[in-house]
Amino acid sequence: MSDAESNIDPADGTDFQPTAPNTGEEFEPVDVFPDSDDFDLRPGSDSCYKCSTCDTNCPVAEVDDEFPGPKFQGPEQWRLKQADGEHTIDDSVMDCSNCLRCDSACPSGVPLGQMHNTARGEYVSEELNTFSIEYIRNRILANYRTSAWLASKFPRTSSFMMNFGPVRWMMDKVLKVPKERDFPEFATETFQEWWAKQGGATGSRERAREVRERRGEPVDADKKVAYFHGCYSNYNTPEVAKALVNVYEYFGYEVVVPEQKCSGTPMFANGMLADARRHAEVNVSSMSDLVDQGYDAVASCTSCSLALRQEYPELFDIDGIEEVSDNTFESVEYLRIHEDLKGEIEAAEVDGELAAEFGYHAPCHARNQGLERQAVELFGDLEGAEMEDVGDSCSGISGTYGWKSEKYEKSMKIAEDMFEHMEEGTESEVGMTECPTCAMQMEHGTGYDIRHPLELLEAALIEEN
Ligand code: SF4
Ligand code: SF4
Repeated sequence: MSDAESNIDPADGTDFQPTAPNTGEEFEPVDVFPDSDDFDLRPGSDSCYKCSTCDTNCPVAEVDDEFPGPKFQGPEQWRLKQADGEHTIDDSVMDCSNCLRCDSACPSGVPLGQMHNTARGEYVSEELNTFSIEYIRNRILANYRTSAWLASKFPRTSSFMMNFGPVRWMMDKVLKVPKERDFPEFATETFQEWWAKQGGATGSRERAREVRERRGEPVDADKKVAYFHGCYSNYNTPEVAKALVNVYEYFGYEVVVPEQKCSGTPMFANGMLADARRHAEVNVSSMSDLVDQGYDAVASCTSCSLALRQEYPELFDIDGIEEVSDNTFESVEYLRIHEDLKGEIEAAEVDGELAAEFGYHAPCHARNQGLERQAVELFGDLEGAEMEDVGDSCSGISGTYGWKSEKYEKSMKIAEDMFEHMEEGTESEVGMTECPTCAMQMEHGTGYDIRHPLELLEAALIEEN
């Protein structure tokens, strides 16, 4: 029996602890568009020895008996294709939420996320009717950035209209967007607008130099980061993006905000790989230019950092993609590596509205990057705040998955454990997570106010000092 096999308990996949995250590094990137329509590029399928660990870790398979599970979506479909060359991708691939739990659980390093994303891309481009409601709805959801940009021109009206009963009823009936969900509010000032008022990169450079001088650090220290804020922090929760800027400048970092589009996460999950590639090309181009100049890339959303780190090089072959992948970090992770964050937190105290007991949920995409214990460990010593890990279940919303009427009930069922732990495990009605859609689901299921770890860091290090 191999080492990998000896770790497996097929009867109870939840007990399995993979020894190393699957980064898919041993597999060649696949240029999905525009040069290749050959999707039989998965030596990874040969590494699958059918242990079913991925299936036992799949939150969708747990609540949906019809869903064939990740083993079928990945290695088995590829084997079928190789066997007869005529196999078409099964439509059940659209029921995978792209949570990537299977990807990190596989003990054999099978690149399940890469296989599912590629299969979904093939299914959507070859099988799905582009005039169908499903395609149109998914395209709108996947391109949230476009809708949010439009809504941000009239934020108050948009926030009202998107939650106006008759409009929601129509959206539910026509587009199959569940009326049970509340649309997030649009900020009256986007992060980008605020950033321009702060003087952009020039203002940040000057402030960072002053801080370094005050902290007794070399004024010319090479402390500079390129911030990938993502769509949601720009249009809906600019307080998270502002907190990142404030916290990084507190440590003497110069922040730049490069040209950027959507990370592509909702596009991967909906099989819109051509859209994702267009956005990735812009992001990689601007980020790689800065990496060449010595900047590291940081993201406040764990799905964005995952896209830049893992999904881009797995799916696209774009100049500079490896440099961007190698130099991208989740924002708190980066500070933990480079600063004495723990020491600062031990000396800090928080009061006011953030002096609370937080129900912390680790997003699946944070787990995939090995970051699931980060917030609990970091804030464990912060006076005034308490962190209660609300368990390892998926939040169920998985970006756009829970925004589809036919998946709404499943999404809520997946989240039942998380809701229960939040309500039973914490006294304050406040939660914490790094993922904006997990935050939506947490708020939707419990009514709690959900905050980002950067907001607590800002309150502890800056507002109270
Ligand atoms: S893909 Fe990995 S986890 Fe799933 S059955 Fe194969 S070896 Fe096991
Ligand atoms: S990505 Fe998530 S939903 Fe999709 S097959 Fe894997 S575990 Fe299941």
